[in-house]
Amino acid sequence: MITIASPIVGDEEIAAVTDVLKSGILAQGPKVAELEKVFADYCGVKYVAAVSSGTAAIHAALYAAGVGPGDEVITVPFSFIATVNPIIKLGATPKFVDIDPKTYNMDVKKLKRSITNKTKVIMPVHLYGQPADMDEIMKIAKAHGLLVVEDAAQAVGATYKGKKTGALGDIGCFSLYATKNIMCGEGGLITTDSEEFITAIRQFRQHGMSGVYQYEGLGYNYRMTDIQAAIAIEQLKKADGFNAKRQKNAKALAEKLQHNKKLELPKELDDRSHVYHQFTVRLKDAIPSRDKIVEAFKKKGVGVGVYYPQALHTIPHIAKHGFSLKDFPASLSAAASVLSLPIHPNLTDADLDTIAAATQEVV
Ligand SMILES: *Cc1c(COP(=O)(O)O)cnc(C)c1O
Repeated sequence: MITIASPIVGDEEIAAVTDVLKSGILAQGPKVAELEKVFADYCGVKYVAAVSSGTAAIHAALYAAGVGPGDEVITVPFSFIATVNPIIKLGATPKFVDIDPKTYNMDVKKLKRSITNKTKVIMPVHLYGQPADMDEIMKIAKAHGLLVVEDAAQAVGATYKGKKTGALGDIGCFSLYATKNIMCGEGGLITTDSEEFITAIRQFRQHGMSGVYQYEGLGYNYRMTDIQAAIAIEQLKKADGFNAKRQKNAKALAEKLQHNKKLELPKELDDRSHVYHQFTVRLKDAIPSRDKIVEAFKKKGVGVGVYYPQALHTIPHIAKHGFSLKDFPASLSAAASVLSLPIHPNLTDADLDTIAAATQEVV
């Protein structure tokens, strides 16, 4: 079976974990501090905080941005649900801007009209590994006095006009979940150039403490362990190599599938790099039978994925914030017609042939 994701653990990760286990410091310690330093250098930002997950990263980032009851946070309805749940958890209201059907990222032409006097943060998602239109988003945010939090969970190492994700907005959020481009099982990273934000984030991940049992406000236990950090440090050394392999696989797959009239292939924009967390195609006229298509792939030994089958504004606990099931047609259409093919760095040339052949037969 060719799986949709495949975490790559080498001898380096195993040795690094063994060292931590022998060191006597297992919870947040020197390895977390080292990871924060190397990731800050990698992204080109001043500060990084490591946390327990990408979801925790988004929660802490929005908290540091001052999001609370009465505020609105603008994001997209076509993403993983962890983009939106932290907004609701903070007592704020999610607002959505529909996506561009070609890139699946925020349609910035529609952004301005969704800003109100309650808007506090704009949170674009770099979906599937390609950065959103950050210049336009930053320009609109500045003009309205808003902060920008990047959901970069799928886009570690991707660049926009030469700058890395995580260094494009005011705060950036990454995930190190097992299927992401680099991983440590579970984990998250937060990037920023602001001393004020990083201080708030570090307190928030540690019960709101600024010193020993000195409480500054609300907080949780969102710490990362040194065991996880040791894995992530080794993964980060390999990140550019992993991404290059994903890009090479994407190019090969796109070439093999370019004449299939029933598929719309991923669109790469010139001024940014796509790190292919997912290689997502759109099924042009096979929409009613997508479940059957997924089954047929499985029978041929190819694990495909649907990211994501439901637009977020249609999920009951989000819909009740005032959305109609007919809102955001581009997101509804994408949710009904996308399909992701395996693209991870572990694939062989033979695997890519198998995936392409299965796609030609099934679709
Ligand atoms: C994975 C992901 C998250 C959440 O990260 P976790 O580490 O799983 O909590 C948030 N947003 C997007 C777009 C993601 O893909």
